Amino acid sequence: MNFQSFFQERIEELKDEGRYRVFADLERHAGNFPKATRYVDGKTEEVTVWCSNDYLGMGQHPAVLSAMTSAVEACGAGAGGTRNISGTNHFHVKLEEELADLHGKEGALLFTSGYNSNWASLGTLGAQIPGCVIFSDANNHASMIEGIRHSKAEKRIWKHNDVEDLDRILSEYGPDVPKIVAFESIYSMDGDIAPIEAICDVADKHGAMTYIDEVHAVGMYGSRGGGVAEQEGIAHRLTVIEGTLGKAFGVMGGYITASTELVDFVRSFASGFIFTTALPPALAAGALASIQHLKQSQMERARQKERVKKVRELLDAENIPHTPNPGHIIPVMVGDAVKCKWISDLLLNDYGIYVQPINYPTVPKGTERLRITPSPLHTDEDIKNLINALSELWSQCALARSVA
Ligand SMILES: *Cc1c(COP(=O)(O)O)cnc(C)c1O
Repeated sequence: MNFQSFFQERIEELKDEGRYRVFADLERHAGNFPKATRYVDGKTEEVTVWCSNDYLGMGQHPAVLSAMTSAVEACGAGAGGTRNISGTNHFHVKLEEELADLHGKEGALLFTSGYNSNWASLGTLGAQIPGCVIFSDANNHASMIEGIRHSKAEKRIWKHNDVEDLDRILSEYGPDVPKIVAFESIYSMDGDIAPIEAICDVADKHGAMTYIDEVHAVGMYGSRGGGVAEQEGIAHRLTVIEGTLGKAFGVMGGYITASTELVDFVRSFASGFIFTTALPPALAAGALASIQHLKQSQMERARQKERVKKVRELLDAENIPHTPNPGHIIPVMVGDAVKCKWISDLLLNDYGIYVQPINYPTVPKGTERLRITPSPLHTDEDIKNLINALSELWSQCALARSVA
């Protein structure tokens, strides 16, 4: 086989469909988020980032940076091993205690990313619980889907956020079948929120355990940043709460929180936890500082909400279509892969505004979009520039406006 031409042909297909991924080469400016330097064609230019998952700007927060630099000075660069073989640093232990407390659970377990935490935890639970069936929301993230696939457990997909469909599918299985209901609280591409309590009611009725991915909600919702489940006062209803340290907490890493026994079980059986080097202590220290800060401070969350409202109002004033949702993500609908990429390129090259196009397979074909994530740090002027640019491009591209 001619491997090179095979690779090339497949890449050409992606390009023809407008879904070839091009990374913006950025240098973020600590102390000046959301501004970054973009490296392009041997030159540099300043851009405003409008699509970061560092939702609250914690990646530049002084408390986080100072915790990280002191930890580097105190403990050095890497962890030096897997958790089992000399890699457990005191910062990991403290962070796991903090995470358990954040979600009101007995225990927590750290992973090197949110992806790994889903993949390894669902993979291990599904594989190790005899006869286990996993009931997965249709819009679940790739990391959950891959974990479930890896577990080789039977998988049933229920209609997105549809509690009746979940109930119907669960009813096909007897009370003795071990069941896991896996879903997210906030779905990041539409920004919609799951009916968590109703899902828990149905799961309880069928004796199923619940596994929730609160990756987009931790740090953002609830008075301590414990996610949507905390906000709704129902964290105790969920068997496993999974999250990331890489989005609103601004650092890196993932975790699950659950009962002592479940955490100990995953710790003891998950290959994706056991056989990999532990997070650098400085990352754990930074995440710890970030969580502790967001447990106390409401300022970032309040300002973020206000910025979202402002962007939506100004989009409305220009009749630029954006999908409503109760959360913090603003999907601006384009509905065409090539146009979506084109607008995003023009925003970046002509306006210094960086919004990554979101195309298939991340979202269904025909629902291509710009996913805008306002942060507490976007100024009125940043917002004005964004709206003006979008409005000009909407006219240039002859894209549909919403009917006022
Ligand atoms: C980003 C994401 C993850 C993975 O988290 P990382 O820490 O980035 O690996 C898991 N679930 C969902 C829903 C996500 O959007």
